[in-house]
Amino acid sequence: MTSSLYIHIPFCAAKCNYCSFNSCVGLESLQERYVKVVCSELLQGSARSEQEGLTTVFLGGGTPTLLSTSLLKQILSMCFSSFIISKDTEISIEANPGTVDRDKLTSLLENGVNRLSIGVQSFNDQELKTIGRIHSASEAIKIVETAKEVGFNNLSLDLMYGLPGQSAKSWQTSLEVAVSLGVKHLSLYQLTVEEQTPLESLIRRETLQLPEDNEIEVMDEITAECTAAAGFSQYEISNYAQLGYQSRHNMTYWENRDYFGVGAGAVSCINGTRRKNIANPERYCCLLETGQSTVIEEETLEFDASFRETVIMGLRLNRGVSLPILEKRYGILLEKYYGKVLQQLFTDGMLEKKAGFLRLSDKGRPFANRVMAELV
Ligand code: SF4
Repeated sequence: MTSSLYIHIPFCAAKCNYCSFNSCVGLESLQERYVKVVCSELLQGSARSEQEGLTTVFLGGGTPTLLSTSLLKQILSMCFSSFIISKDTEISIEANPGTVDRDKLTSLLENGVNRLSIGVQSFNDQELKTIGRIHSASEAIKIVETAKEVGFNNLSLDLMYGLPGQSAKSWQTSLEVAVSLGVKHLSLYQLTVEEQTPLESLIRRETLQLPEDNEIEVMDEITAECTAAAGFSQYEISNYAQLGYQSRHNMTYWENRDYFGVGAGAVSCINGTRRKNIANPERYCCLLETGQSTVIEEETLEFDASFRETVIMGLRLNRGVSLPILEKRYGILLEKYYGKVLQQLFTDGMLEKKAGFLRLSDKGRPFANRVMAELV
């Protein structure tokens, strides 16, 4: 059963200089056509899927809120008419400051969206400028306040640390502003410099400099202190939530459960088969309009590859991966499968078992990538 639906909206107002996502600027004229095609893919997908009800819907991007209120309404209406959605379904949208106002937020709420994930990245104007964001810190604060006023309760902010020119003090200020806004969820990512991005070339030419490793360590300490003091629990490597406000959609990925992806570049994983749509939005539209398949990659995961993936993804969660569920789903005994490799990780204190879960220990968490590489 597919219980999670992802819809990709690839349009952005401007390209941030660190971005390697499937997003494009200057394609306003395609938006209406794209939404029509997305709606037809939703309809086709609902006809194929077993209708047991969606637990999550996520509109991501790109910048979904760049679409007009009326286009967003069309997508949401199609979701409601094609899938079984209950009042408990988590319906999230990524919203960027500079692309939403009170009217759009009100319409989103009225049309079923109950969770906003706001891409703030920093509350420091100079840092925002350096990474090419289109908004200021005060605009980001305004969105959060307006969203609360119109009735959104479940708000998440994305922030990044390790930005060029960012100090530990400045990171602390951004975090303090974030928690003071009374949001329920924080996604706190260390900046990754992706190849072939403008940021990469600025760093290579030493026009911009990243903070040193020791400064990043201080930022990590600040993160732990500031989030804990504000009542947030870390539940995944980069995610923190108030009680009951974990991202249910992202849990689908971390628990390696099935999901259905719609839109340009979207990925679906259903019954062990992973399919990826063509990334180019224009080509995606043409293919669907002419009745052709949009899938450009299809891979059926071997049984034990799927098992290993479930272990690795589950280790991203602080609680770890459930051993009874793992055994029930795959009929594989963890110790027997990994043998000495696993034993060594226990001996080195990198992994531990607690309450039926296998998880990274406090000692192992900073070495998560190394541990995962051993188990992949
Ligand atoms: S808003 Fe997000 S998707 Fe769009 S360019 Fe910036 S980082 Fe990329």
